[in-house]
Amino acid sequence: MIHGTCGRAFSKSPCMKDGYCTKYYPKTFSSTTVIDDSGYPSYRIRDAGDRNQYCNKSNAIKYLFKYVNKGLDRVAIGVSKEASSGEDAQVIDEIKQFYDCRYLSACEAIWRTLTYDIHQRWPSVMRLTFHLPREQNIIFKYDDDLEEIVKEEKGKHTTFLAWMEANKKFEASQALTYAEFPNQFVYDREAREWHPRKRGYSIGRLNYVPSGTGDIYYMRILLAIQRSCTIYESITIRTVNGITYSSFQYACYFMGLLCDDRKFITVINEVVELASGHQLRKLFAMLLISNSISKPERVWNAKWTLLDGILYERRKALKN
Ligand SMILES: [Zn+2]
Repeated sequence: MIHGTCGRAFSKSPCMKDGYCTKYYPKTFSSTTVIDDSGYPSYRIRDAGDRNQYCNKSNAIKYLFKYVNKGLDRVAIGVSKEASSGEDAQVIDEIKQFYDCRYLSACEAIWRTLTYDIHQRWPSVMRLTFHLPREQNIIFKYDDDLEEIVKEEKGKHTTFLAWMEANKKFEASQALTYAEFPNQFVYDREAREWHPRKRGYSIGRLNYVPSGTGDIYYMRILLAIQRSCTIYESITIRTVNGITYSSFQYACYFMGLLCDDRKFITVINEVVELASGHQLRKLFAMLLISNSISKPERVWNAKWTLLDGILYERRKALKN
């Protein structure tokens, strides 16, 4: 990256505002690259007329993916008659807009021409299903005999039921939550059983359940922490400190999992690694609008520094 020439003697330079360079050049010499708490780098600049800068940190990954395919900035502009209301109102053709504005940069075009991978995923992720008692999904063809199906499926395990079975059998499994289970166990689809894992690695994710669905939503919250569950009720999902509660929701409540907004903080922590600042701020706004956080200011105070961009904007505004 090249910057300059600017400073007092070059006040007409586009980066100059009120007598200062808006990009804070020239920067002070520094023998090492320093990355501050928020991940903002102050690059090494040696005092030898050498202005090469090198910076490396694993969470620069967002920038890597952004710039590799970015290409030049482009704008598509159309000139049309002013839209009026009523029947003549302008029709927006989103498909046409997509074709007109679609733009592959040279690097992206080459990358795709040579059929390089656009992305890869590691480690493998296993989506884990779960269900309330006798509410598992069963897949069948439209002309199958339903009675036969029910007879056939009776007593057969789902991944979830098989997990509870495995908890009875294997000591090692009792230290794991359902989501942690695929780290150390493999699911055999034929036998519908979990077996201790011999090699490899996989992480588990509980399927998403919207908060309005009631009992199963609360069961999901409990599944994220409960271990060594063997049946729906006892030693298990609905049991907290030896007391079995009449519903999953009560169990959640008595564990202090409701009303303290911990899950929202967890969500933000999870998303922060992947999402841009803009997406994170949008997520927070969505949480506010959906009125699901009980104490928004508490979540905000705990997490606002992660919604990156805010600090940057303030620094820019304060010339700090
Ligand atoms: Zn400048």
